Amino acid sequence: MNNKSILIKNAEYIITMDRNEKILKGYSILVKGKQIALITKKKVKADEKIDARGKIVIPGFINCHHHLFQVGLRGNPALQNQPIDRWIKIVSNYATVIDEEIVYLSALVNMAELLLYGCTTTTDMHYIFPKGNSFIEATIKAAQDIGIRFHPYRGSMSLSKKDGAEFPDKAVEKPDDIATRTEAVITKYHNPDKFSMLRIGIAPCTIFTSRREDYKNALILAKKYDLLLQTHLGESSFENKYTKNKFGKRPLSFLMDLGWEGKNVSFVHGINMNIREIKELAQTNTHVVHCPISNARKPIGEEGVAPVYSMLTKGVNVAIGVDGSAGNDSSNVLEELRWARTLQGIRKDSTYLKPSPVMAMGTINGARLLGRETEIGSIEEGKAADLAIFDITDTLERVGSIYDPQTMLLACQATRADTVIVNGKKVVEKSQLINLDAKKIICKLNKRLKKLSY
Ligand SMILES: [Zn+2]
Repeated sequence: MNNKSILIKNAEYIITMDRNEKILKGYSILVKGKQIALITKKKVKADEKIDARGKIVIPGFINCHHHLFQVGLRGNPALQNQPIDRWIKIVSNYATVIDEEIVYLSALVNMAELLLYGCTTTTDMHYIFPKGNSFIEATIKAAQDIGIRFHPYRGSMSLSKKDGAEFPDKAVEKPDDIATRTEAVITKYHNPDKFSMLRIGIAPCTIFTSRREDYKNALILAKKYDLLLQTHLGESSFENKYTKNKFGKRPLSFLMDLGWEGKNVSFVHGINMNIREIKELAQTNTHVVHCPISNARKPIGEEGVAPVYSMLTKGVNVAIGVDGSAGNDSSNVLEELRWARTLQGIRKDSTYLKPSPVMAMGTINGARLLGRETEIGSIEEGKAADLAIFDITDTLERVGSIYDPQTMLLACQATRADTVIVNGKKVVEKSQLINLDAKKIICKLNKRLKKLSY
């Protein structure tokens, strides 16, 4: 049991992201065990003290979409400027030649980057399983070893060349196998307890890589175990045409007619959403995960910036996702939020975003999407001690931004956090990982990746 107490003392600012979005000046936070025990200006005793003068304390960021296995595809020339179906084909080929060790090391690398820039909870969507569940198990081990709060969605694809799709047959599973293997992961790993560090979700990959049956089976399992659902939606014109031809509907209608809506469902991207659909998402409390950098890497003819400004105005809960390394060559929520803020200015129907809704996308909106609004996503007494501390006195990138701490973090270039605490345990100190020798992992993974051919 971790009963150690840590006092984060005299913080320059605490961005609480509580209901009133209070920003506190000169307060201290007492962490006891897994929880935030006290937020106070009084003197308090603790086993360990962190001097937070000249520092901003925020609730740890929450990353709501990732494909951790894709590290080896960063900057891959074959993936550049490709339409979505061909792009997934290349990623699928890669996914069928890697093994558990590469998945484990890749997950560690992505999680390390997330933690170093202040992210304390991440999801993942692994969707290609050439060998049973071993790849999702490798990501779970990585999360446990590095100390990040983890929500892996057990993904899947079931359509391949034999069904007229572009993806190799060995990259997909049969619907019955998907359901059986998904249930096996749930019963082995899912932990619904308060402050749980590991919860499983379910995620058929896309409408054009999964069958109607997969979406139905996922819904049945999600209801049985009270789990979250996620899928990619509204990403490309290919998806629109495919769904119209095959089902005579728009992608959102197809999924909502199957029962895919509500507080346990999140759709990743939502770029091609019209106003009627945005209203439907808001009315049904269905969440959207915005992945601005990955979206901006679009081929000619596609829309590259999701209508987030409209979604927020209409009351959709929008969270942030870094997306996989094949679509975003980094794994950095703070950088992603900076893009989210800025890119809305490109759309004719919007302007760039104010800092507060952007900070919410990275914190409390993510907690809401994960059904954990009472546990994480804000700094309040009784919530989990998931905290990131950024130095503002010693950071060249933020000099001059003295007006408000949210803008200071989100408008200026992303830098590493000084200290990161997950579930009451320090995992980053002096901007370095505590539980991992990063150099060793980088070396080992690069060696393995250089030998791959696909
Ligand atoms: Zn994705």
